[in-house]
Amino acid sequence: MANHLDISGDFPLLARTVNDAPLTYLDNAATTQKPHAVIDAIRHYYEHYNANVHRAAHRLADEATAAMEAARTKVKDLLGAADSREIIFTRGTTESINLVAASLTERLKPGDEVLITEMEHHSNIVPWQMLCQRSGARLVAARVTVHGEIDLDDFHAKLSQRTKLVALAHVSNALGTLNPVEALIQAAHDRGALALIDGAQAVQHLDVDVRRLDCDFYAFSAHKTFGPTGIGALYGKAALLEEMPPYQGGGEMIEHVTIDTTTYNQLPYKFEAGTPNIAGAVGFGTAMDYLRQLPRPELRRREQALLHLALSRLKQIPGVRIIGDPQERSSIISFLIDGGHAHDFGTLLDQQGVAVRTGHHCAMPLMERLGVSGTIRASFALYNSEADVGRLIAGVEKAMEFV
Ligand code: PLP
Repeated sequence: MANHLDISGDFPLLARTVNDAPLTYLDNAATTQKPHAVIDAIRHYYEHYNANVHRAAHRLADEATAAMEAARTKVKDLLGAADSREIIFTRGTTESINLVAASLTERLKPGDEVLITEMEHHSNIVPWQMLCQRSGARLVAARVTVHGEIDLDDFHAKLSQRTKLVALAHVSNALGTLNPVEALIQAAHDRGALALIDGAQAVQHLDVDVRRLDCDFYAFSAHKTFGPTGIGALYGKAALLEEMPPYQGGGEMIEHVTIDTTTYNQLPYKFEAGTPNIAGAVGFGTAMDYLRQLPRPELRRREQALLHLALSRLKQIPGVRIIGDPQERSSIISFLIDGGHAHDFGTLLDQQGVAVRTGHHCAMPLMERLGVSGTIRASFALYNSEADVGRLIAGVEKAMEFV
């Protein structure tokens, strides 16, 4: 693997040790580490132009507002959206999905259905349950096969004239399954349903183009994309967002307020009540710049090579069972080890500096479907290396000596 593809030096945290071992960070599906550029941009904001955005009569506020709107344009460009008005800043994927679910409440009636899949993260399940409770609509889930893929026959059987919205993950956070979202969005549209894509696990790995996908909504989090926590984005088609009522009331989302009534601000501000996460937006925008200047196709090929190396080496260890066997997989491996609990192996790996995640990964229905209570999950990012795979394998072999 060529050296110019080693970007780990951009990420200061990766240089630390854990339990006297070099850190092997394989929890990138939970959150990615941050490059110097992002950390510096946030610090620079607080040291040089911290101010509240919009409407202030002073220089700092102008600079903060310009930086925040520049960040919005960068998110728009990364997603291939047509217009910055289609990018709403939220707290992250979870809030993006909650925003859509809250705002669509009036559109759904008893007899309508929302179609999801059994592989969704809880944040792409629970907001729809709550929407169904409010509206009287029904939540339906397409089954997942033993391979960890959406059962397409079941999906198409459950997609009907009653379906008003389809919501599904671009990439499964628990198994890494890359879903055929473009075809499923098309199928939803053919039935007259809207389509929301949960892109939390996709944007750090794939080139997402919301116009090519033709999704109505796309949600993701900055912190899984080399940016800060506490901020993310919702892309929505402008025509839809224009029609949708606001999600929260407060400052900035208004045009005019009397005691009795309010007219709302234009997009995207109609959906951004209150002081936004300005420092977060600055860091988010810088993360988008960082991603765009990387040789992403080459890095992605390298990341895929690492994934397959790790998969094949794990499969060679007697007693290791890979959970899910999807044909198209992105950077995540879930596995179990005979003779011990996933959590115990997580602790034993941590003792060797290997950071993985264990448990249900906020996907309890998927775990139930696959007949497991949880898994050990190793998830890769663009900065991981063959050495990380080697330490994961050595770590698993050593941990197995304890059981
Ligand atoms: N959807 C998926 C597929 C995820 O992996 C996650 C986080 O792990 C989320 C949604 C929720 O993201 P956040 O906690 O950043 O809102």
